[in-house]
Amino acid sequence: MNIFYYDIAIPIPVRETFTYKSKEILKSGSRVAVKFRNKDIVGYVVQQLNDMPDFSTTEVSEILDSEPIFKPSDMQIILWLADYYHHPLGEVFDTFCPPALRKITKTDSLLSVEEPIYSILEKDKQFELNKEQESCIKEIKSLRGFDPCLLYGVTGSGKTEIYLQTAGFYLSKGSSILILVPEISLTPQLQERFINRFGANIGIYHSRQTPKQRYNVWQKARNGEIKIVIGTRSAILSPLTNLGLIIIDEEHDQSYKQHEGFRFSARDVGIKRAQIEKIPIILGTATPSLQTLKLVEDKKYKQVNLLKRANGSKPPGFITLDINDSKLESGIAKESLDAIKNTLNRNKQALVFINRRGFSPLYECNNCRWVAECKSCDARLVFHHGLDRLICHRCESAYGLPTRCPECSSSNLSLQGSGTERIELFLEKYFKDTDIIRLDHDTTKKKGSLDEIIEKVHESNSAILVGTQMLAKGHDFPKVELGVILNCDAGITSPDINSLEKISQLLIQVSGRVGRRDSNGKVLIQTRYPEDKNLKELKSGDYLHFALKNLKQKKELHHPPYSAVCLLRASSPLADHNIKFLSKVANTLNIESEISAIGPIPSIISKTRGNLRHHLIIQTGSKTLLNKYVKDVIDSILSWDETKKVRWFFDIDPIDYS
Ligand code: ADP
Ligand code: ZN
Ligand code: ZN
Repeated sequence: MNIFYYDIAIPIPVRETFTYKSKEILKSGSRVAVKFRNKDIVGYVVQQLNDMPDFSTTEVSEILDSEPIFKPSDMQIILWLADYYHHPLGEVFDTFCPPALRKITKTDSLLSVEEPIYSILEKDKQFELNKEQESCIKEIKSLRGFDPCLLYGVTGSGKTEIYLQTAGFYLSKGSSILILVPEISLTPQLQERFINRFGANIGIYHSRQTPKQRYNVWQKARNGEIKIVIGTRSAILSPLTNLGLIIIDEEHDQSYKQHEGFRFSARDVGIKRAQIEKIPIILGTATPSLQTLKLVEDKKYKQVNLLKRANGSKPPGFITLDINDSKLESGIAKESLDAIKNTLNRNKQALVFINRRGFSPLYECNNCRWVAECKSCDARLVFHHGLDRLICHRCESAYGLPTRCPECSSSNLSLQGSGTERIELFLEKYFKDTDIIRLDHDTTKKKGSLDEIIEKVHESNSAILVGTQMLAKGHDFPKVELGVILNCDAGITSPDINSLEKISQLLIQVSGRVGRRDSNGKVLIQTRYPEDKNLKELKSGDYLHFALKNLKQKKELHHPPYSAVCLLRASSPLADHNIKFLSKVANTLNIESEISAIGPIPSIISKTRGNLRHHLIIQTGSKTLLNKYVKDVIDSILSWDETKKVRWFFDIDPIDYS
C-alpha cells in the first residue's frame, strides 16, 4: 500500500509546518482534518514531500475538500505573503479561508452552472461620459496582462462611473471583476450602484456578514455563479473564476492595512494577485499614496486622470478659522455655528468632522489635575454618554465615573474636550428640530445601522452629519454643502513620518464630501496654527502638487517609499525585558551593515492591557535585503532566552508607529 507524506500548515502562531501521512493523494490548497495536540483541527495541505521522513508521523484524519479551496495561483500568493510578512503560514491560510470553512466541515462540491448574464439595466441612467472620462476608459480598456494603473480622479470626478463601465467591458468579455473598498461602510453605496446597473448578481463579502453569508458568496464566486465581488480586505482572494480585473477603490486608505495579528496590506496583496494572475489592476483615488506615486514616477504603473468634477461643479474652497482667541462651545467656534446655520437655512446639509468618538476624551480633577486613565493601558479614558461609562479605547475596559477624585478627594471633577457624541448632543440643543446624524464606530456597530444612517442622510433635507474618518471616506451625499473640520491640529503638528501624507489625504477627502452637486461648497478648518506652511499649501486643494513635493522630501531623507522599513515590537510586563530583547536584535547589526536600526524606544502608546511596549525601527535600501535580514534574525531570535520573556512581532511596511 502506498503512503504519502505532506507538509500541512496549521493555523497556530508557529512558523513551522507539520508532516502528516495519508493513504490517499492530497491536493495542495485543500483542507484536511488532523489530530494536533490531541485535538481535531483543520490543516491546509501545502505540498507533498518527496522523501519519507525519519520520524514517526500521524495520519490525516479526514479529507475535507474534494477540490482544493486555494488554486495554484492562490497558493503562490499565500506562500509569498507568509514569506514577505514573516507570518505563520497556517494563519495566512486561515485569513483567506471563509470563516465557515475554518471548522471541520466539508465543502459543497463544485457545481457546473450556466454562466450568469449581466446586461445593463434599462432603468439605470448611464451617464454620457465627459471627455476626461472617455479618455480614461479608452486607456483602461487597453490595459493588458499585469498592468497596474493609478486612476487619479479628484473627488466627485465620477470614478464610480468609470468602474461601472469598465466592469461592463470585462463582463462582456466573459471575465469577472473584483472590487475592494477600504471599509465596510462604503460597500452599500457601491453595491447599490452595481445592482442598479447590472442586476442582483453581485457578491458582497466582508466581516460583518454571518459565516453563512460569506460562505455563500465565496461558493458562488467559485462556481462562476457570480462574476462581480465587492468586498473588504479578506475578499482580496475571492475565488472568482476567470478573473479579468481588480479594482482597489480609495487605494491610499490606511484601512487596507490590517492592524493586528497578520499585518498585511490588502492593496499590496491585490497587486501581487494581479501580477501572478497577469491581469490589470486599477488603483482609484483622489489622494494617491506616496508609494503609488513613486511607482508611477518609476514608470512601473500607468496613470490616468480625472481632474474635474463630473457635473462641472467646482471643488469647495478651504477657509482656515483661527481659534486661538475664540470661545468654543463643545469644541465648535461661533463662526462655524453661523456657517452651519446658514447652510441649514438654505435647506442643505453640513458635515462636522472630528477625529474622536465618545463624549469627552478627558475626565480631570480641577483641584490636583488627576486624569482618569485605564488601569492596564497608558490611555486616557473616554467618557461615553450613552453608556454612562468611562471607556478605554485600547482594551475596551469600562469604568464607572468617580464622583470624587481618587487622589485628593475633591468633587471638583470635569469632562474636558469633545468627541462626536458631545458634538451631537450640543448640536441637538443648539439647532432644535434639525436632524443630527452621527456616523462613527459606535453608531454603526449594530447590524443594519449603517444602512439606516446612510438612508437617513439621503432622505433628510437640512441636516447636520457628525462623524469620524468613517464619514470622510468615499460617500456621495449630494446635499452636503459645508464641511467643518474641528481638530486637524494634531495631524499638522505630529512628528510621525507619515503624518503629512495622512493629514493631506484627510483634508482633501473631507472636502470631497462637500458641494458635490453645485459650486457653493466650502470647508472650514478650525485651527490654532493658521500660519502653518503645510496647511497654507493644502488650502489650495491641489493634493497632487503637495504630495509630489512630499515625495521629493522622502527621497532626500531616504524614507519610505525610498527605503524598506519594518518595526519590531516587543511587549511584556517589564520594560527591562523588552529592552534587552530589542537591544540584542539591534546588536546583530554593525556599522558596516547596510541595515540600520533606531531604538529600542518606548512606543508612543507605551502600555496596553498591562504590558509595556517598546519597538525598534529597522531600515534599509531594498525590500529584498530587509526580507533576508528579518528571516535570518527570526531564526536567531527563536533560540534566545530573552525571546521567551516578551511577546514580539515584525510589522513590515508599518503605517502606525504609535
Ligand atoms: P468620485 O467617486 O470620483 O468621488 P462619483 O463616482 O461618486 O465620484 O461621481 C460623482 C457624481 O457625479 C455622482 O453623482 C455621479 O453620478 C455623477 N457623474 C458621474 N459621471 C458623470 C457624467 N459623465 N456626467 C454627469 N454626472 C456624472
Ligand atoms: Zn484631585
Ligand atoms: Zn485599557
